[in-house]
Amino acid sequence: MASLREDDCALQFAPAQAAKVPRRRAGLRARRPVRLVALLLASSVALAGGCRQIHRALAARPNILVISIDTLRFDHLGANGYAVSPSPTPWIDRLISQGVSFTHTASSAPETSPALATLNTGVYQDRHGVMSNRASLVDDNHTLAERLKEAGYATAAFVGNALVDTAHGFGQGFDSFQVVTTDPTFATPVDDKLVALFGDFLRASPRPSPWFAWVHMMDPHGPYRSAAPWWSHDFDYSRAPVARDDTPPVSQSNFGLGVLPRYQKLDVEKRLSEYVRRYDGEIRFTDAQVGALLSMLSAMGVQDDTLVVLVADHGESLVEHDELLQHGWFLYETTVHVPLVMWWPGRISGGSAVASETCTVDIVPTILDLAGVSAEGGDFDGRSLWDESPATGAVSPLPQAVAELRDAGCFTIGPRANHVISLRTSRHKLILTPPSTPRDPLAPRGTVTTDPESIELYDLEKDPGEVRDLATTETDVVERMQPHLTRLRARLRAAGWRR
Ligand SMILES: [Zn+2]
Repeated sequence: MASLREDDCALQFAPAQAAKVPRRRAGLRARRPVRLVALLLASSVALAGGCRQIHRALAARPNILVISIDTLRFDHLGANGYAVSPSPTPWIDRLISQGVSFTHTASSAPETSPALATLNTGVYQDRHGVMSNRASLVDDNHTLAERLKEAGYATAAFVGNALVDTAHGFGQGFDSFQVVTTDPTFATPVDDKLVALFGDFLRASPRPSPWFAWVHMMDPHGPYRSAAPWWSHDFDYSRAPVARDDTPPVSQSNFGLGVLPRYQKLDVEKRLSEYVRRYDGEIRFTDAQVGALLSMLSAMGVQDDTLVVLVADHGESLVEHDELLQHGWFLYETTVHVPLVMWWPGRISGGSAVASETCTVDIVPTILDLAGVSAEGGDFDGRSLWDESPATGAVSPLPQAVAELRDAGCFTIGPRANHVISLRTSRHKLILTPPSTPRDPLAPRGTVTTDPESIELYDLEKDPGEVRDLATTETDVVERMQPHLTRLRARLRAAGWRR
């Protein structure tokens, strides 16, 4: 197969206009997403020729840039259908238009530390050990950075959230690890500073050795103070009105249903719509920093040699399900459904969407596969989304138990005292809340209730807002999905995690 020609496929980045990026293959579905990428990319070749080719020749290992964005929900990206004008995310929209977007990706957790531990390991919480915020990633883990460092990569991390710093074990495998945190009032953005540090690293990087950099951006996380208000002034919400615009009371805690968490309280703003506007403004600021990162790759002449993976750790519930301006208690789409985009101009391209379910446990095996780095000993919970090993052309079979678990869909494990877990496919989500657990996040620690086990089922295609529970009517779907959640719960109990 012909190699890409530079003049065909050199992608010069500029922010996309507000127009929604067309989705070419959003209807694709298959049981195994691992097959989908190859199918989709092959289709892209046929559809577009020229630029849309897969460079099959074994290339030098790519640089790898993983951009994770804290608290970025899937449906607030213009390319994902957010009807606010202009789009808060012109740079990410462009990335989606030129890369491969996985449109049904579920995070392993609606909270930072467990979600980012999965991003760094490719396994669920019972195996990487980080069940909730403030837990540490123990040395037993064989992280992505360690694997890439062993393969000869220079490794560096630029992180805007101190929950995932070296003191919490997230420095494993990184040659350098820099943390930038905001001031106590959250009035100062950090993502622009992370970009500047990445620029220093990029300019100092030795060639031709490949590098791996992890940039974890933070500014969309509340309180929404870090981006100046002018970032959100010209948003037009006439086509995406906020569903609820009251002024709820402020909780005395950072949790609570139907109340504003204490950490979110702004001095002057009271209405929920203003919080949403500011959230979108924070996203716009961070999107501009993503653009700065991508522009650096272009300016340094390395963008064709760099695999970019963009993902969020979790989303944010804004006005839905009474979980106001927070994340962590429920497992609805607002906090679980995250964007995932992969882009590598020298190797993959297409502006395509994969609508089969993908999980954040898939990211590590996919990166290793694309980079041609051995995943020896990598008993991941996920699977490579790349059909063929670049080095051998062979499909790597998964161990039976892992394959059965992965083929069931994507699991999310709640970090809080309600011990909630869920299974998501591209069509349905089943949520299980165990018996005797509190239904109120403000319940005192150790609370045991008389509540029975709760099962919820949602049809994500017909009911993306998850307001019509189908558990008692679509019992065939429940019967098909529930055994997988039961197996996950047994696994969690075996690890000592769950009651
Ligand atoms: Zn987070």
